[in-house]
Amino acid sequence: MLKADEKLTQNSYYAASVQRTESHPPLRGDLQVDVCVIGGGLAGISAALELQQRGFNVALLEARQIGFGASGRNGGQVIMGLACDIEVIEAQLGYEAAKQVFAMTAEAIALIHERCATHAIDCEWQAGYLNAAIGPKKAKTLEQWVEQMRIRYGYEQQFIAKPEVSSWIQSNRFTALAYDPLSGHLHPLKYTLGLARAAQSLGVQIFEETAAQRITQGENALIYTDHGAVQCKQVVLAGNVYGTTLAPGLDARIMPVGTYIIGSAPMSKARANALIPSRSAICDTNFVLDYFRLSADDRMIFGGRVSYSTVTPMNLAPTMKARMLKVFPQLSDLQVQYAWGGFVDITMNRAPDFGRLANNVYYLQGFSGHGLALTGLAGKLVAQAIAGDAERFDVFTRLKHHNFPGGKLLRLPALVAAMAWYRLRDLLA
Ligand SMILES: Cc1cc2nc3c(=O)[nH]c(=O)nc-3n(C[C@H](O)[C@H](O)[C@H](O)COP(=O)(O)OP(=O)(O)OC[C@H]3O[C@@H](n4cnc5c(N)ncnc54)[C@H](O)[C@@H]3O)c2cc1C
Repeated sequence: MLKADEKLTQNSYYAASVQRTESHPPLRGDLQVDVCVIGGGLAGISAALELQQRGFNVALLEARQIGFGASGRNGGQVIMGLACDIEVIEAQLGYEAAKQVFAMTAEAIALIHERCATHAIDCEWQAGYLNAAIGPKKAKTLEQWVEQMRIRYGYEQQFIAKPEVSSWIQSNRFTALAYDPLSGHLHPLKYTLGLARAAQSLGVQIFEETAAQRITQGENALIYTDHGAVQCKQVVLAGNVYGTTLAPGLDARIMPVGTYIIGSAPMSKARANALIPSRSAICDTNFVLDYFRLSADDRMIFGGRVSYSTVTPMNLAPTMKARMLKVFPQLSDLQVQYAWGGFVDITMNRAPDFGRLANNVYYLQGFSGHGLALTGLAGKLVAQAIAGDAERFDVFTRLKHHNFPGGKLLRLPALVAAMAWYRLRDLLA
């Protein structure tokens, strides 16, 4: 378990605004199932649900509680595309496969709607997303990107030039915007818990406070926990960066990077609507970016900042508030009620990393801070693969990934140096 992570979850708006009605007792004793899924985040829950729907008998092990990891704490922004530019996929797999991947990211959003409707999950969906450029150079790049994505990927967004920006956001910080009506935002913990409820109602056996400690691979894999073992024919690893190392080779390809969020006190609806009249989620195009949105109860949920240490930053609430005031100086009177954070699992090229460790051991990782929607589709793809149709899963497994340079000890300094460069680039743009 990442050190200090405990502290980071303690003051989360999401945890404070849900009632956990289901409890899932820990595993006690041995169990035999078709598939064992490790990790109770959106990737693992989605895989478990899709597998159970296909007739497999599934157990899901979660070291802490459902939604303890990134899925229960994120910015709530459901965004088309990947963390990396689509050109990264195109360079490796070619244009046709890149188009297929991009279409799958749209499918991932549609899947959220489908699941909310089928399983009656109320997670406060709000449509609309604005990509925001700071400075003329970035505005130009954004305009060109909107045009390119329309022509080459059929992705329709509305470019909003400087004179119109103020009618979309009450802030002087941004030079241009791109509006995407299909992306949007939601309450991530409500969605995660709702999906787990749906999986359980279909027959998935969920065990909380049950960490997988070790796996013995083979035709029948064995997964050892503190109080019992699970024997299964197939395994899905979806533990992100939050757990015991089960596959050291995979760990070297991802890096935990901390990111932080504050939740303000509620505002009046009129004040909230004046800030962002479309109530879209907003993310700037900087490398070290700010991402923010209004909650359904009219709080500002403002995220940003990154850290390469697992130590919780000092003065998290005031430093994050200072970031928020750079965008909305008019909110200086607004109290910060919540401050929390979590880790994203970034890969070197920011493309997702899905694959197999053995014929019957699958993994899903490397969502690189852009996994709220894609995790859901990843779970579906892995279930399709286990059920015998791996065509779409294998589009992703063809992507090449590299270890972070320097091995376990040196990868952090190497990354810090790289990030310092990107930060400088943001400042100079
Ligand atoms: C602060 C923050 C903001 C973010 N904002 C956004 C956003 O706005 N939009 C977006 O698209 N993405 C965002 N992300 C990223 C997104 O949340 C993740 O990509 C996604 O939730 C990953 O889901 P997951 O299921 O892979 O992992 P997780 O949700 O982290 O789940 C992994 C689970 O596995 C469990 N586990 C680990 N090891 C074991 C083990 N050995 N045995 C049993 N259980 C184990 C952990 O306890 C954990 O609950 C953000 C992430 C963070 C942290």
